[in-house]
Amino acid sequence: MKGLFADVYIVLLGPPGAGKGTQAQRIAVATKLVHISTGDMFRENVKNQTELGKLANDYMSRGELVPDEVTIEMLLERISRDDARAGAMFDGFPRNVVQAEALDAALAREGAKVDFALLISVRDEELVARLGGRWICRNCGKLYHERNDPPKRAGVCDACGGELYQREDDRPEVVQSRLEKQKPPAALIEHYRKAHVLKEIDGEQSLDAVTAALLEAIR
Ligand code: AMP
Repeated sequence: MKGLFADVYIVLLGPPGAGKGTQAQRIAVATKLVHISTGDMFRENVKNQTELGKLANDYMSRGELVPDEVTIEMLLERISRDDARAGAMFDGFPRNVVQAEALDAALAREGAKVDFALLISVRDEELVARLGGRWICRNCGKLYHERNDPPKRAGVCDACGGELYQREDDRPEVVQSRLEKQKPPAALIEHYRKAHVLKEIDGEQSLDAVTAALLEAIR
């Protein structure tokens, strides 16, 4: 079934900890767009100990980006599947201009384009505090935050009862380096500004207010 947002392609941009993952899950529910998270895809591969997972894990555990070649190939395979033909929301991709151009080219082959690039902005001090308190369900991937969005029972997923864990790369010693290496580069933001699809959202509001602002931006 096609939703209201059929054939719309959205990229969510923001530094690690800006709330991209949480907001992407919410926007996906509200818009019925498929949610494509390269971070989730890599984590799935790490969990299943695939060759791709082993390669990606070397970079992920150091808070570095996985090489473009590998990431782009995985992403292109993902968007070639049927469920991504009627629009999608990308979370964590693209991270740089090379990836953005690869996405533009792939969508252009289907007569589509990125319709909205939503940049969630949060100050550095706030990001460090947030990344430290993040928990994720081992079973269904739902995200929680100790301070902002805690589960009803500590360590247990509200949605499926699964066990919650902290990501390797959310350890304090990795967080700082991730922030430095993984902020959306100015050139990437410029790429979407030039295409007239960039909208910036204040990510320091409440979770609900950020969701509302994002939905308003794509209306
Ligand atoms: P995320 O869940 O988006 O924070 O991604 C977790 C980790 O996966 C990142 O720290 C990177 O190592 C890797 N990753 C995710 N998306 C990308 C991407 N588009 N390009 C390169 N590496 C990525």
